[in-house]
Amino acid sequence: MECFDRAEFLSREELATVQLARLRNVVSQAMRSPFYGARLREAGVSPDSLRSLDDLRRIPCTTKDDLRSQYPDGLNTLPVSEMVRMHASSGTTGSPTVIHYTQNDINLWADLMARSMHMVGVRREDVFQNITGYGLFTGGLGLHYGAERLGCLTIPAGPGNTARQLKFMRDFRTTVAHIIPSYALYFGAALRDSGQDPKDLALRIALIGAEPHTEETRGRIEELLDVKAYNSYGLSEMNGPGVAFECLQQAGMHIWEDAYIAEIVDPETLEPVAEGEVGELVMTTLCRQGMPILRYRTKDLTRFIPGPCACGRVHRRMDRILGRADDMLIIKGVNIYPMQIEQVLMGFPEVGENYQIEMEQENFIDQIRVKVELKEEFFVEDMRVLRDLQKRITGKLRDEVLITPRIDLVQHNSLPKAEGKAQRVVDNRPKG
Ligand code: ADP
Ligand code: ZN
Repeated sequence: MECFDRAEFLSREELATVQLARLRNVVSQAMRSPFYGARLREAGVSPDSLRSLDDLRRIPCTTKDDLRSQYPDGLNTLPVSEMVRMHASSGTTGSPTVIHYTQNDINLWADLMARSMHMVGVRREDVFQNITGYGLFTGGLGLHYGAERLGCLTIPAGPGNTARQLKFMRDFRTTVAHIIPSYALYFGAALRDSGQDPKDLALRIALIGAEPHTEETRGRIEELLDVKAYNSYGLSEMNGPGVAFECLQQAGMHIWEDAYIAEIVDPETLEPVAEGEVGELVMTTLCRQGMPILRYRTKDLTRFIPGPCACGRVHRRMDRILGRADDMLIIKGVNIYPMQIEQVLMGFPEVGENYQIEMEQENFIDQIRVKVELKEEFFVEDMRVLRDLQKRITGKLRDEVLITPRIDLVQHNSLPKAEGKAQRVVDNRPKG
């Protein structure tokens, strides 16, 4: 099979050998930073003391708070003269964390991105439109460098401005787009509503990621844009995108284990979960020089998909992200993830492309209200029709999440839209 990089088809044994050698290297590199120098010595970890991959568990985990406490450069292992770039996380869950890269780090990241894009069929003949934010957010420059590395004509379109995106797509015969799922839905709906046929575009592949989304949402994006959509996972702390990516099988994301070690642990005990069980993803950079990060607690919940992939790659696959540990809603003692709600909503043909979950309080009891946009043609004046739909959605949600949310059916394009990652949950409960 044609591949971008021999590392894609290493055997499991070869991978393990590469991982252990790189782990020792990265630990020795990390110890040059003030933070890991102290922390690893305290834990009695030295590169030579790592005899097998199991010894990874002797290294204490790194948390987002650790990164924040080391702001601005306490994890750097090299002087600023060696650094060529910095990025920061989007700050979705608080103040951002900053990552520094050497030239070598940037090159390796671009290789991983190119490998990911090549895996789903992106080639030098393609025209790549990058419809995500540039700047500190890693999604923009991350895919940009990967596409250039493959030799694609790369259009750094940035987010928003649907009419201009569409014009570029037509004028330059864009074949591949990188687009956040919530914006892909909006963009696809705008195309449909303006009476245009996606088949008239040259677009064939959408790379979607950066925020949780369901299989139902992928299906909608594929239909609205007439493309194949592939899930892309990454986080700034691990460079950015290009950490795990779906192959043509669309059956989970291969984690690039020659560049990262992934673990899935119980968030309470930090012990590994049983094979195939859901837990928190913990990641280690194996190749980063400027700012290695060891056993980073991502707070993202997922599971390893057991068994081999039909594509022949041995890199382990992870399932869709269920949500961040912080995103879990606890209502009347029941744990609910926004993705459970999205999955139900997107299953209704009447439901449009946007929704919002609001947490509120009535008589000191927490409630959820879900505001759901309907497609234009279903937002009818007949109250009986709407009430029946409302009842059906409520019933399905109750079956899924075991509590009864309130449902507000609202008009197409009436809910707020984010330029970057969608904010699905709004907490309207009184503070304190
Ligand atoms: P922030 O944590 O501030 O959003 P990043 O821009 O680094 O910062 O985003 C990384 C996070 O985005 C991941 O930890 C994860 O929660 C989410 N994410 C990225 N890709 C995906 C994806 N394909 N599916 C679900 N969530 C994703
Ligand atoms: Zn595969």
